[in-house]
Amino acid sequence: MPIYTPTSVREATEIFAENPEAMLLAGGTDFMVEVNFNHRKPSSVINLARVNELKSWHLDTQTSVIRIGATVPFSQFESSEFEQLSPALSHAARTVGSPQIRNTASIGGNLGTCSPAGDSLPVLFALDAQIEIASLQGTRSLSIHDFMLGPKRNALSVGEIVAAITIPVASGFQDYAKVGVRNAMVISIASACFALQDNQCRIALGSVGPTIIRCNEAEKFLQDYITQSSPPDLETIREFSRLAAVAAQPIDDHRSTATYRRHAIEVLARRLAMRSFSL
Ligand SMILES: Cc1cc2nc3c(=O)[nH]c(=O)nc-3n(C[C@H](O)[C@H](O)[C@H](O)COP(=O)(O)OP(=O)(O)OC[C@H]3O[C@@H](n4cnc5c(N)ncnc54)[C@H](O)[C@@H]3O)c2cc1C
Repeated sequence: MPIYTPTSVREATEIFAENPEAMLLAGGTDFMVEVNFNHRKPSSVINLARVNELKSWHLDTQTSVIRIGATVPFSQFESSEFEQLSPALSHAARTVGSPQIRNTASIGGNLGTCSPAGDSLPVLFALDAQIEIASLQGTRSLSIHDFMLGPKRNALSVGEIVAAITIPVASGFQDYAKVGVRNAMVISIASACFALQDNQCRIALGSVGPTIIRCNEAEKFLQDYITQSSPPDLETIREFSRLAAVAAQPIDDHRSTATYRRHAIEVLARRLAMRSFSL
């Protein structure tokens, strides 16, 4: 099978336009598993590994926005420099697979796969990330809320490549937590990102619905307390986490039961919110 190795986004989009049936390859940690199990039989592959412009992230100090190239591997978010700018994405990255997986698995690949269990996705939803998409026609920007359409379904059209992701620098507390069947090397059975961004409460849930879920009622409920001078008390946090659990749409599957998942969301939401108010 032909394997193309473009060295620029422009070249990658040209190859993709000429070979619309081609499949994109980034770190290969999802892609190669599917090929090995015969779930995918690509007729040609566009390997993004040599596209340098996709491999780095930078901070725009004027706008306080972080622009992350699609093939940046999760290990790069583990640095203390990145952690200061985006603690939630840094902490989510640390929970992905093993060091070997994190050295190759990319954030663009997480978006390409678009699993509700993808660890970067609740963070991107909580921070209202923008997804920069490149094709031969040019680039377009899409909100993460419009990008993820369902389990393993995204809004990319044929010939389109995720080029970059932009998120705001943290302006308040933010963190990510997940529950799995063991402590490491595990796909989440429930996850949550909690952020106080620009004094606004945000909470997004993973692995408990067909897409990532933003908990609007829980956010609205806690928002009233955030603007007050005294922090919310434990009863308020409990009600917040109960509302977050109500927003979850979990199912029973081979990883867990719906009942346990909803319970886990309540616990995660409570712990994250308590941590944010130092309770
Ligand atoms: C042992 C193991 C453990 C894992 N643990 C975790 C975990 O804890 N948390 C987690 O979230 N995931 C986990 N994964 C899944 C996987 O590592 C992630 O989803 C990862 O982000 C995929 O990135 P990649 O660069 O390897 O993508 P690839 O496998 O190369 O590609 C994945 C999909 O995205 C598409 N794609 C890649 N790049 C782009 C792009 N720029 N634009 C558009 N489409 C693109 C590909 O065509 C493919 O469909 C694990 C996988 C393995 C094998």
